[in-house]
Amino acid sequence: MDQILNYIGGELVPPKSSTYLDNFEPATGAVYSQVPDSDASDVQAAVEAAESAFQAWSHTPVAERSAVLLEISRRIQESIADLAEAESRDTGKPVSLAKAVDIPRASKNFDFFATAIKHVENESHQTDREAINYTLRDPLGVVGCISPWNLPLYLFSWKIAPALAAGNTVVAKPSELTPMTAYLLSQICMDAGLPPGVLNIVHGLGNKAGAAIVEHPAVKAISFTGGTNTGAEIARVAAPQFKKLSLELGGKNPTIIFSDCPHEDTLETVARSAFSNQGEICLCGSRIYIQCELYEDFRDDLVDKVKAMKIGDPRDEDTNQGALVSQQHMEKVLSYIQLAKDEGGRILTGGQREIVSGRCENGWFVQPAIIEGLDHTCRTNQEEIFGPVVTLTPFDTEDEVITMANSTPYGLSASVWTENLSRAHRVSQRLASGLVWVNCWMLRDLRTPFGGVKQSGVGREGGWEALRFFTEPKNVCIKLR
Ligand code: NAD
Repeated sequence: MDQILNYIGGELVPPKSSTYLDNFEPATGAVYSQVPDSDASDVQAAVEAAESAFQAWSHTPVAERSAVLLEISRRIQESIADLAEAESRDTGKPVSLAKAVDIPRASKNFDFFATAIKHVENESHQTDREAINYTLRDPLGVVGCISPWNLPLYLFSWKIAPALAAGNTVVAKPSELTPMTAYLLSQICMDAGLPPGVLNIVHGLGNKAGAAIVEHPAVKAISFTGGTNTGAEIARVAAPQFKKLSLELGGKNPTIIFSDCPHEDTLETVARSAFSNQGEICLCGSRIYIQCELYEDFRDDLVDKVKAMKIGDPRDEDTNQGALVSQQHMEKVLSYIQLAKDEGGRILTGGQREIVSGRCENGWFVQPAIIEGLDHTCRTNQEEIFGPVVTLTPFDTEDEVITMANSTPYGLSASVWTENLSRAHRVSQRLASGLVWVNCWMLRDLRTPFGGVKQSGVGREGGWEALRFFTEPKNVCIKLR
């Protein structure tokens, strides 16, 4: 059985305790590898390695740092088939999705920040004729990056790449549920010539290895993506140490469909935005509001489309819906479907555990569910489910739908479907959300600010926002004589 290792000081090493956790393949429900159950002593070693690498890495010319990161990007792209297969096996997502989305994006993350760092400009402010200011942006030192299981390499690299590009050294922890591609990345980094200690990857549990990174006094900043409760716990520990914090948290995103939407495009993309990656994307639109005139037609078309989705072995190229990440998560999703029924919802399609025959008969599959008839204030419509479950709600007016859309504690993303340009601007402006897509979904430009409001997070990733997060500004004011 494969044994995953930590990556510390440029070497692949076992956890100091020699203890491991089981790593499951969601599509079969079977254990297929072992993950280090690292503790504070492994994190200590990783921090020490990162501290000793910092001086040299932060003084490495930008062109050289950039070249190593570009080489990592190239090697990820070159290994796309193996990495996609590993990502699919670890998460349960279709291998076709990992090949089309997860791995190319991980490669792009390195490429993007390796290139961006070459184009950074420092600000300068002239104070009348009296003085001139310029702002230096130095790397912070050792930073911590902690990521979730849903888009493992994609989100892991989204943090690591800007941190390294800006000249920091990193101690990172992927989710214990999906460690495999981060492990494979360790080897890629070694082969690409990343100096030892610049990136250190410690595997293990959140409340053990993750907490040790957050608590460590030498770790200057934490970039975290995951659940809102975990984000609150991290903030509680990190804030009294005055660490910089970037928290990308949960969502309960509205999809707002006006009757003048482009029908075919809308249907196609709304189905994707609801159920891509089995609904396990923080950006998935799980509350679908449809204007009354269109409600029944759109509902029926969406139900037909979702019924035609193929649930199956993630290895099969034509599988559309793979397995959920863990048995515990599957049970949580099924319990929300039961809750929706208890709250008076009508299940229009799906909502049962699916048994996929053959190799996957013990896998954690759930049929994508569409539910109607629920009030926008009920728990099903307020709490994050993070699975293949959406609700449909009719609305009449813009005011009404904006009130419903803004009614949850979350505010990550929203999508709006209309051909009316003025309305698109108006509604976008009024949505309490960090991201709004109009007539599209998950169309990403890596230069744009990414993040949420309310309980969906604090801070922004992407472009300059990420490079600013991972640097400390220092203003120098020179009096003109
Ligand atoms: P999670 O919060 O359980 O875990 C995320 C990471 O934090 C894991 O690596 C975990 O081991 C670690 N962790 C857990 N407890 C910790 C602690 N006390 N200290 C330090 N680290 C700790 O989240 P998850 O279940 O892996 O991911 C699903 C959640 O992530 C959903 O809520 C989803 O919306 C959110 N998410 C948000 C975004 C975004 O960009 N806003 C993107 C993807 C996922």
